[in-house]
Amino acid sequence: MAKKVGHWINGKHVDGQSDTISPWYNPATGDVTGHLSLANRSETEHAIDVASDSLQEWSATPPLARARILFRFIQKLEQHKDEIARLITEEHGKVFSDAKGELVRGIEVVEFATGIPHLLKGEFSNNVGKNIDSWSVRQPLGVCAGITPFNFPAMVPMWMFPIALACGNTFILKPSERDPSASMMMAELLSESGLPDGVFNVVNGDRNAVDTILESPKVDGISFVGSTPIAESVYLNAAKYGKRCQALGGAKNHMVIMPDADMDMAVKSLMGAAYGSAGERCMAISVAVAVGAAAEPLIQKLVPLVNKLRVGPGLGAEPENEMGPLVTGAHKDRVAGYIERGAKEGAKLLVDGRKSPCFEEEGFFIGGSLFDHVTADMDIYKDEIFGPVLCVVRVPDFQSAVALVNGHEYGNGTAIFTRNGNYARQYSEQIEVGMVGINVPIPVPMAFYSFGGWKRSLFGSLHVHGMEGVKFYTRTKTMTGRWPEGYGSGNEFSMPTLG
Ligand code: NAD
Repeated sequence: MAKKVGHWINGKHVDGQSDTISPWYNPATGDVTGHLSLANRSETEHAIDVASDSLQEWSATPPLARARILFRFIQKLEQHKDEIARLITEEHGKVFSDAKGELVRGIEVVEFATGIPHLLKGEFSNNVGKNIDSWSVRQPLGVCAGITPFNFPAMVPMWMFPIALACGNTFILKPSERDPSASMMMAELLSESGLPDGVFNVVNGDRNAVDTILESPKVDGISFVGSTPIAESVYLNAAKYGKRCQALGGAKNHMVIMPDADMDMAVKSLMGAAYGSAGERCMAISVAVAVGAAAEPLIQKLVPLVNKLRVGPGLGAEPENEMGPLVTGAHKDRVAGYIERGAKEGAKLLVDGRKSPCFEEEGFFIGGSLFDHVTADMDIYKDEIFGPVLCVVRVPDFQSAVALVNGHEYGNGTAIFTRNGNYARQYSEQIEVGMVGINVPIPVPMAFYSFGGWKRSLFGSLHVHGMEGVKFYTRTKTMTGRWPEGYGSGNEFSMPTLG
């Protein structure tokens, strides 16, 4: 029987009232898993009101008490790890071990957030003037919202809400319509961990819910992760309504392979980075930049491996499949369309994922594809395909590789594979990308660093998690004070200076 999912508001499940229903699928079978009632304006406003009413008490709760709830939340996540990972695989399609991996990376952010008593410590300066002290504190931003994509249904929300809650904000999560269950489960676990009702709410919806959040004067901050056009529009609208916003967008991540690279290491890394999670990762490598003599050995080693990729359901296969299905049938058609387009544009299609036997199955499967001789003017190079399609671009030397990567509109992640320390150093110095790997294909920063791209991969000035996350979810207040006994003589009309 198809599941029904409504919302989580004020500490409990709430049935959706809206007649606008959106189906979501098990991508491995193509069957409809459930029906989501997409929140209308009044349902979304209700969640915002609840978050707003809960703010005063939660923000006054000592940070250590907030951290203790998060400690219990970590335990609950550990206890239910397999259950949540299973939900992710059943709704997103990624293989089970990968779903567990995303949970682990999410839990690491909660672990970071438990350090909030230390992270919120302010600054103090004695005697900034005679008998005058100055100090600053970080106070919560207010009611915050998170709008998240389908590709990491647990980790991306956990980039946001653990730090937001730890900082004393209340939160409204608007997850992707494609895989809502992990968010609902996390809401239940937060509640079981002792989080007061109303502090964390989940509104399942689409653009309507997002617009209501953007327009509400009660919402102070918005974290968005998704595709670039929507990220840009959310960011511009948030600015229009006077809200703080960080909006992370799409990507086209390049891996540069120098001729001196450890080629086996590079190829092995490339396989996981390009085809893992069926390429539906914002940090997936979708372009391999082969420098000079690196091209031939790279292609020779890649082709048989791409042909041999084990594609199938993310659950139940022994040994586990390497790549699951795409998230929807529409997305499968889109990816297949790009393969068609790439071949027409003149790139050399060495492996065609549409010819894999999995392509004909009921689920939303497509095999891995590999293009050689891709050039910067082709759509398959310019656009984010978000599928298991790897483009190889051949360039003559290091500087051409740098120029190619810097010429792309996106700047999320990149990697260089080389044994030469100078190339590695020059690359990390010159490249206009937010996250750089040196012989590491997917350089996703740990929770105590911050995650974010440059250029059209991020709108806003602060990245997520790490100290930038704490800064995003707090406002600095700076006090300057003295006590009457130290007061000098008479009125002061001029700007105070140390003199
Ligand atoms: P998406 O942009 O379609 O959706 C993201 C969120 O925005 C969802 O919650 C969705 O309901 C909402 N949304 C959709 N249309 C909207 C509209 N018109 N107005 C307001 N809100 C709207 O993205 P997706 O397909 O779910 O996810 C894939 C994209 O996310 C890729 O582009 C990927 O690169 C990107 N992504 C980026 C990062 C990063 O860190 N930069 C991380 C993960 C995913």
